[in-house]
Amino acid sequence: MNPSPRALRWHSGGATNTGKIRQINQDAFLDRPDLGLWAVADGMGGHSAGERASHLLVEQLGRLGHFELLGAAVEGIRQTLGEVNGQLLREARALGRDLIGSTIVILTAIGDHCAILWVGDSRAYRLRHGHFAQLTTDHTQVQQMLAQGLLTTEQAIHHPWAHVLSRAIGGDAELHVDYHLEALGDGDRFLLCSDGLDKELDSTQIAQILGRSEPTLAAQALITAACDAGGRDNVTAVVVDFSH
Ligand code: CA
Repeated sequence: MNPSPRALRWHSGGATNTGKIRQINQDAFLDRPDLGLWAVADGMGGHSAGERASHLLVEQLGRLGHFELLGAAVEGIRQTLGEVNGQLLREARALGRDLIGSTIVILTAIGDHCAILWVGDSRAYRLRHGHFAQLTTDHTQVQQMLAQGLLTTEQAIHHPWAHVLSRAIGGDAELHVDYHLEALGDGDRFLLCSDGLDKELDSTQIAQILGRSEPTLAAQALITAACDAGGRDNVTAVVVDFSH
């Protein structure tokens, strides 16, 4: 809980699962209400490379201290992502690997504002007054083709390259991090998730389950529903509530 009695308070919970098909869980999450900082990372690369990447990201983000201003928090997070990006590129080169990479989606809150930062196709959603909205745009090749008008939305959903990333931490020497700032309201609920969730459940199903219970139970219910729907990938959800 944040210390100021006038500011919004937050309450959060997360869950992750290997799913029904994969042998190891390459997802990782951060749930640090003491820092107003939450994240979901989805690692990729052979053997244990993906696990290494997602866990390194979460570990380094967890080392960030408390920021007074949102702009400083965004800069601190971007700097950390840049450092991890460089480290993963160096490790991949040293080990002769093509890629040790990860997606990341981060939510950070200070007072009554928040920032969402992301790289890749892990997503942030917001439930506000019963209205469910996706706040991130996937960094995938298909999303780029959609933006260029080369595909329809329907074609994009079923495209065989739907999950081929155009950006990742550990992907390129030059890292571009997208971010979005917004004002928080009483009763807002945010969801951060890996693509193991949105591969199995459509946004109507996610919104229905998300609205049902307190954060930890909602995260667990989303994971269970994704596993019941096929569980083809690792699946992770972090849910954060804001209230006065
Ligand atoms: Ca995944």
